[in-house]
Amino acid sequence: MVAQVIAVEPFDLVVFGATGDLAIRKLIPALYHRDADGQMPLEASIIGVSRRKLSSEAFRDLARQAIAEHVSAQDQTADAIARFLARLTYQPVDVTGEAGWQDLAASLAASTRILICYLSVGPDLFGPICDRLGACGLAARARVVVEKPIGTSLASARAVNDAIGRHFPESRVYRIDHYLGKETVQNLMALRFANALFEPLWNAAHIDHVQITVAETLGVEGRAGYYDTAGALRDMLQNHILQLLCLVAMEPPTSLAADAVRDEKLKVLQALQPLSHDQVRQSVVRGQYGPGASASGAVRGYLDELGHASGTETFVALRTEIANWRWAGVPFYLRTGKRLPARLSEIVVAFRPIPHSVFDTSAGPIRSNRLVIRLQPDEGVKLFLMIKDPGPGGMRLRRVPLDMSFAETFAVRNPDAYERLLMDVVRGNQTLFMRRDEVEAAWRWVEPILEAWAGADEAPRAYTAGTWGPTASVALIERDKRSWHEEMA
Ligand code: NAP
Repeated sequence: MVAQVIAVEPFDLVVFGATGDLAIRKLIPALYHRDADGQMPLEASIIGVSRRKLSSEAFRDLARQAIAEHVSAQDQTADAIARFLARLTYQPVDVTGEAGWQDLAASLAASTRILICYLSVGPDLFGPICDRLGACGLAARARVVVEKPIGTSLASARAVNDAIGRHFPESRVYRIDHYLGKETVQNLMALRFANALFEPLWNAAHIDHVQITVAETLGVEGRAGYYDTAGALRDMLQNHILQLLCLVAMEPPTSLAADAVRDEKLKVLQALQPLSHDQVRQSVVRGQYGPGASASGAVRGYLDELGHASGTETFVALRTEIANWRWAGVPFYLRTGKRLPARLSEIVVAFRPIPHSVFDTSAGPIRSNRLVIRLQPDEGVKLFLMIKDPGPGGMRLRRVPLDMSFAETFAVRNPDAYERLLMDVVRGNQTLFMRRDEVEAAWRWVEPILEAWAGADEAPRAYTAGTWGPTASVALIERDKRSWHEEMA
């Protein structure tokens, strides 16, 4: 199956932090793919910026290497690589100083193309870059793209947003949460709003509870310095998991226009039941991995990897509710962690049990339906239904998934989230980007958890690397007579 590709308008994309990890692993490969698929017009140009003194030729060599390492061999063709590299130039600029900005502005002065400034740098540089883009006149017409984390608290998120907002109106700010660019995440909207089947059941009358899990097998590896200042709650839950929760729980938007969708997501964040410090103790589990095992063998604990004592959590699980008509009383269980037994992101919508059984249940219980949306790996959707076991011998029932694997159903490469998001910036489509009030509402809800932890003199609960977190996480859901979803027929 060949996907239809419509070329975007010509653009100049300035990537600040073009020599960094995100640019090399994600942005350059994503841009290469869009070019190779014919989506970039001939005039599109990409300008790399960072402090390192490189020539444009040396930057192209870096990009060539990035493609060799991060694009599958079958998608690399000499023509496409040559065409892509010809778009690249490089300007060394220390964004905290004055030098280099006028050269950058001069190189873009004659262009009438769409101008995009992608800030692939630490968040402490967002303000200085925006100020200088303002001073050299580029902010007046540019779109700005920023990466998470937007702050580490409500106050710092506001400060970052203020710094950006001094030079860019909200209509030209694109805050990336790359989860929103994942095909399966967008499919959530397709599932909910392009099928008549689910929406009538999508409420407290028919849904028993929802689980969202984002599990990683890796430890903190080379990112220990950053991670120790963030932790699982700030790094994953405040942004990715709450965004997924919004898409599951929001009301149908009036259209797919950016603000129509974002208005509905915001209402979900505003309806999340606030957690008092007492409730944090009861409904939030904070964990940190100790030594254990992964698929590759024995692994060290977090503190060993870090090299010093730390109270930073590498795991968080919590139970929350959404206080509105649709969801009143339906628990949402959220969990994320590092050094868990599997790398997986999935949303489980567990329907209520049937009201009465006409079957002889001595052979086993009638298990309630579940819709499982797998975001990674093996993207797909499974609907677990009760089915009769084939053969004579009475009505033996079994829960079996109706299984739609993306890889099997669509014989096309599953594009990386950044491909979609980068082209959406060029199209001027903000639907999949977080608006300022969403980011701040998410921080407002998360902050009491951080405060309760800071005020309590308790270390995170230890868990063995390679297990599903502290036992308190199992107890959290079992207290409600439910259990975390495990794949089963
Ligand atoms: P990184 O590897 O540390 O790269 C930072 C980049 O910024 C480098 O190119 C660096 O190059 C440049 N830089 C630093 N100081 C500069 C200055 N004063 N002037 C100009 N350039 C400067 O960071 P990263 O992992 O790519 O992350 C970039 C952003 O994306 C961060 O906000 C991060 O939180 C976010 N993010 C990253 C990932 C990921 O997977 N890496 C995922 C989600 C979000 P020079 O040292 O040569 O200047």
